[in-house]
Amino acid sequence: MKEFTLLYMSEANAVTLVTGASRGLGRGIALHLAGHGYSVVINYASNAQAAEETLKSCKAAQVDDGQQFITIKADISNREERVNLVESTLKQLGRIDVLINNAGIAPRVRADITEATEESFEELIRTNLQGPYFLTQSVANYWLNTAVKPVLQNGFKIIFVTSVSANTASINRGDYCISKAGLSMASQLWSVRLAESGIQVFEFRPGIMKTDMTHSVRDKYEKFISEGLIPEKRWGTPDDVGRAVTAAVRGDLPFATGSIIHIDGGLNLRRL
Ligand code: NAP
Repeated sequence: MKEFTLLYMSEANAVTLVTGASRGLGRGIALHLAGHGYSVVINYASNAQAAEETLKSCKAAQVDDGQQFITIKADISNREERVNLVESTLKQLGRIDVLINNAGIAPRVRADITEATEESFEELIRTNLQGPYFLTQSVANYWLNTAVKPVLQNGFKIIFVTSVSANTASINRGDYCISKAGLSMASQLWSVRLAESGIQVFEFRPGIMKTDMTHSVRDKYEKFISEGLIPEKRWGTPDDVGRAVTAAVRGDLPFATGSIIHIDGGLNLRRL
């Protein structure tokens, strides 16, 4: 990671808040942001050890003395903990420039929609949709209602990590699909609302990614991939997402908001 350098020195104090950065895609995002000179808040739900590992790797990737890295435990499905996440970030690092809504969960049990429970539905909606939607509201209001000025190219930014499941029907995890379809609309809503204030919003839509989330279905997906489900014929990685998100953060996607960026090796393409 040390080969990365800051593109814009004025951005050296920019603070990025990455939810669910202790593992998986969030860790990949945190590492790339660290390697590009940004300060990173590593949010996690319960796995303090994994969060510490991300912190250590961010420090190893650091390219500027001014960068700071902290971990904050907060369950984004819980209102008080979301408030604490924002307040604690502002108290410790003084500002927020980018919110990356990455944290998310799969259903505890993959069950056909004729049998799936309301408890699972509620848990998925609270965590994957309500949490990021209202966390975005908190951060947006901080930008809109305080005198904080942006230091990033193209201003403050919100990123939503949704999923190919936002528009792909999987009948054994309807709750997950609905939560991600809703989150895709959240991205559109916030992009329209915040555009006049110069705040960019992006939806990053990963496909089949090699993380803990897909561990239980690894063999099944391995078979799908070998049979050609994904045109690029490989698993996606945290590195793939980290690189792409960092491009948006550093301003490489000007004159764009509400855009959907597929990180899926072509999985979303219709084929005949
Ligand atoms: P993962 O490996 O299971 O990691 C999940 C991360 O989210 C962990 O850091 C976890 O923290 C955190 N987290 C979970 N619930 C949380 C909560 N309530 N509050 C705060 N943090 C929470 O998952 P992943 O594969 O990296 O997925 C990241 C995002 O990408 C999710 O939104 C997921 O839906 C999406 N996605 C994943 C795939 C895929 O194939 N893996 C595909 C498309 C989209 P702890 O370590 O403390 O548990």
